[in-house]
Amino acid sequence: MNDFSNNPYFELFTKQYQNQFNIGNSTYKKRIKKLNRLQYAIESNYRMEIQEALSKDLGKPVVETELTEVYAILGDIKHAKKHLKQWMKKHKVDTPLSMLGSSSHIKFQPKGVCLIISPWNFPFNLTFGPLVSAIAAGNTAIIKPSEMTPHSSSLMAKIISDVFTEDEVALLEGEVEVSTELLKLPFNHIFFTGSPQVGKIVMTAAAKNLASVTLELGGKSPTIVDTTANVDKAAKKIMWAKFLNCGQICVSPDYVLIDESIKTEFIQSCKKWLHIFYNDNPKTSDSYGRIVTNKHFERLNSYLENAKTLNAKFEVGGETDSTSKYIEPTIISDLKPEAQLLQEEIFGPILPIVTYESLDLAIVYVNSKPRPLALYIYSKSKANTKKIIDNTRAGGTCINNSVLHYANHNLPFGGVNNSGIGKSHGFDGFRAFSNERSVLKQHTFGVTELLFPPYSGFKEKLARLTIKWF
Ligand code: NAD
Repeated sequence: MNDFSNNPYFELFTKQYQNQFNIGNSTYKKRIKKLNRLQYAIESNYRMEIQEALSKDLGKPVVETELTEVYAILGDIKHAKKHLKQWMKKHKVDTPLSMLGSSSHIKFQPKGVCLIISPWNFPFNLTFGPLVSAIAAGNTAIIKPSEMTPHSSSLMAKIISDVFTEDEVALLEGEVEVSTELLKLPFNHIFFTGSPQVGKIVMTAAAKNLASVTLELGGKSPTIVDTTANVDKAAKKIMWAKFLNCGQICVSPDYVLIDESIKTEFIQSCKKWLHIFYNDNPKTSDSYGRIVTNKHFERLNSYLENAKTLNAKFEVGGETDSTSKYIEPTIISDLKPEAQLLQEEIFGPILPIVTYESLDLAIVYVNSKPRPLALYIYSKSKANTKKIIDNTRAGGTCINNSVLHYANHNLPFGGVNNSGIGKSHGFDGFRAFSNERSVLKQHTFGVTELLFPPYSGFKEKLARLTIKWF
């Protein structure tokens, strides 16, 4: 057994460890009461402070905060409250005839003490969302939010200490070192949202204690627009999805793959919708956000410089301002394959346009990259849509829309391989934080007892019959 006593967070961990059965055996009514307290805090007590914190951290417009943070969390809470009684019920399953006299069910039990590590792009949504699932499933949780959004993290610390005792839910602010120390502790489950690079670090740390993991990661999510698509409607939805939160969304359309013949029409429509959304000068628009930190601004700026060096064509935008961490909505075409914009996850307001000669080649292009978190299809052709879905792999897909699959609680949300492991949201989130315990109960004499030793010719025949008929 490892000695964790020197770990700075061992005392907190131990408090939760000792409290886990108390929390874990709580009724659905008690769990709903906790969710109600969290709901009240977000909906009423702290709503204005949430708006202020996000404005300071990300320049987030109030409408975006309401829709993508407050509404999203309240939606998670309401959905969990509505279905929790059903989720917690034992799920009966069939028992084979060869086990006559017994019955079977699955009991969802909490994993125990959980660690939630969250990113900065939707600080409240991506911290409280997993927390709702953890509470619904009856766990205790230690949360480590991102150091990149300090106003949001410190407000979340205040909310958590207001709503919970630390032997149930605690939030630790701080730099990466805090996560590094926490990851050494023997958590029962780790729910991480962030980049694939850090996801590998988390999974390596989890392996030392054989903790289960949910990894909600990112990557380059393609958007395919084929010749049958309504180009103007596609442009409208893609412009909205790409520049929402300044492109800092895990399911943001990373690049557009479009049939060569409709590229010019598409770019014209994009220009029209950008003008409608953000006026002539997005810098003065109340509807457009900013880049989170100087480091991320520099990273995105270097992608733009790299594109210029490679003589790419700036179709729209390109203006930047380091003092306000502003990057204009930018669309770039004619990029060489080695351009950083086509190699790295962009996570910012820059959209590369890549043209294709045939849908088959578009599919080859998608499959030449790691499996994405989302893949969007704009097409009126059922055959083309089916072809793309059947011949690619992605965490999720929207057809003739972008991003919205994230918002349906009844769909599992998550990636595949490089874009993630495991699923979240709704019942899938509850499931991620639960151990599905198999229970088989023997009611009467079981026929399997007829096959116990000592073995005889008769038992050999019986074994053969069982294999043949049951
Ligand atoms: P990140 O991986 O840099 O950081 C995420 C969290 O991990 C932060 O809390 C950070 O403090 C912590 N962290 C960073 N380095 C660490 C280390 N070495 N050891 C332990 N912990 C460490 O990601 P980010 O920049 O905050 O977010 C952007 C990434 O997250 C993008 O790749 C994006 O696609 C992805 N993302 C995914 C989802 C999803 O639901 N799948 C949602 C949002 C963001």
